[in-house]
Amino acid sequence: MQPLTNRSKQVVQKEMTFMERIYLPAILKGMAITLSHFFKKKNTVQYPEVKRPIAPVYRGKHVLKRDDQGRERCTACGLCAVACPAEAITMVAAEREKGEEHLYREEKYAAIYEINQLRCIFCGLCEEACPKEAIFLTDVITPVETSRNEFVYGKDKLVEPINQRIDVSKRQSWRMPEQQS
Ligand code: SF4
Ligand code: SF4
Repeated sequence: MQPLTNRSKQVVQKEMTFMERIYLPAILKGMAITLSHFFKKKNTVQYPEVKRPIAPVYRGKHVLKRDDQGRERCTACGLCAVACPAEAITMVAAEREKGEEHLYREEKYAAIYEINQLRCIFCGLCEEACPKEAIFLTDVITPVETSRNEFVYGKDKLVEPINQRIDVSKRQSWRMPEQQS
């Protein structure tokens, strides 16, 4: 049969020579290749102690933002969950009670909001879909966990701490430069 490329080699079953039978030259050749790698530039990065530089538009761990007054922006409309191709987002909506206006910006809020980081493909469609500018991806790499359940991030891991706000403006300025002017 005619081969598709010219890369194929015809295999010939020929007698091994004496040198091939004793394997020594092949072993020495292999060890020389291994030794030569000791003197080459190392590509391995000792993560997490050492981190590779990442692109300004890197899509990492999500954050649920608060507004200027510290209220949660998310109104549990579900658009991010509908847009998510990996079905990684789930939520339970609740009505804001009287006296909770300082906690939630809208009359409806997410009582439960979860993202399964193992399902997520970090496509960023959730932040594109959000009409409230409530969810953003950050440049934080999702940390390593030891059990699958710990990768289901709830509001405790997603909502930004009130005293430790997460600045997403740098990544957004690269993502949508025309909106920064
Ligand atoms: S980044 Fe993409 S896959 Fe991940 S939660 Fe958002 S929409 Fe879903
Ligand atoms: S994060 Fe945005 S899109 Fe998703 S439920 Fe909240 S307000 Fe709606």
